[in-house]
Amino acid sequence: MRLRNVRGAREEILVNPYVIQEPQQYKGHVAVQIFGNNNPIFIEVGMGKGQFITSLAALHPEINYIGIEKYSSVLIRAIEKQEELQLPNLKFLRFDAEYLPDIFAPGEIAHIYLNFSDPWPKDRHAKRRLTSSRFLGLYDQILADGGIVEFKTDNQPLFDFSLESVKESGWTLLMQTRDLHHSEFAEGNVMTEYEAKFSAMGNPIYKLEAVHDKKA
Ligand code: SAM
Repeated sequence: MRLRNVRGAREEILVNPYVIQEPQQYKGHVAVQIFGNNNPIFIEVGMGKGQFITSLAALHPEINYIGIEKYSSVLIRAIEKQEELQLPNLKFLRFDAEYLPDIFAPGEIAHIYLNFSDPWPKDRHAKRRLTSSRFLGLYDQILADGGIVEFKTDNQPLFDFSLESVKESGWTLLMQTRDLHHSEFAEGNVMTEYEAKFSAMGNPIYKLEAVHDKKA
C-alpha cells in the first residue's frame, strides 16, 4: 500500500476512544473489558482503511470486531468511518501482527480475516507474508478450537504460496476458489477497499478458508 503521511494521525490514534491503548493489559479479558460482553472476537489483520471490518460490524452486532493495522496513516481513515457510525462492536489496534500472542490469550480469538495482504514477492521476504507458516503458528496460538482463517487476494503467486503454507503447517483447507465473484461463494461476500479496486480492473479474486484442529 502506498502510504501518505497524514498529519496528526499518530497523535490522534494515541487518544482516540475507538483505539485500544496498551492492549497487553487486556490479554485474556478483551471481550469483557473492552466490549463489556462475552461475544466472540473476530479480527482483521492488515485492515487498511477499514471498509471490510466496518461493514461486517454493522451487519453483525452480536460479534466483537477488532481491526489491526500497522500504519497510522491508513488506520486514521478507519477511525474516521467509525466516528460517523459509532458501532459499539468495533475497535482498532495500531499493532504489528508479529506480536499477536502478546495481546490475546490462547483461544481468545474466534476468527481471523486476512485481506489482500502485502505479497512480499522476494523469496527472502517470504517469512513476512501474513499467510507464511510463521504467521499461521502465531494465529494458532490465539485462535479458539475450530477458529478459522479467511484469506482473500488478487495475487496468484501469493495465493499458491498460501495454499502450500496451509498444507505444510498441518491446517485443513475448508474451501478455496480462484474466482470468488463468479463462484458459489460469492453470495454474502463483503468487499474490501483493495477487492473493489482490483475486481473493477478485471482481476479475479482468490479466496481460501482454513482451520487447524488442535486435537489432531
Ligand atoms: N485489507 C485491506 C484491503 O483489503 O483493502 C488493506 C490491504 S493492504 C495491501 C495491506 C495492509 O496490511 C496495509 O495497510 C499494511 O500496513 C497492513 N499490514 C501489513 N503487514 C502488517 C502487520 N504485520 N501487522 C499489521 N498490519 C500489517
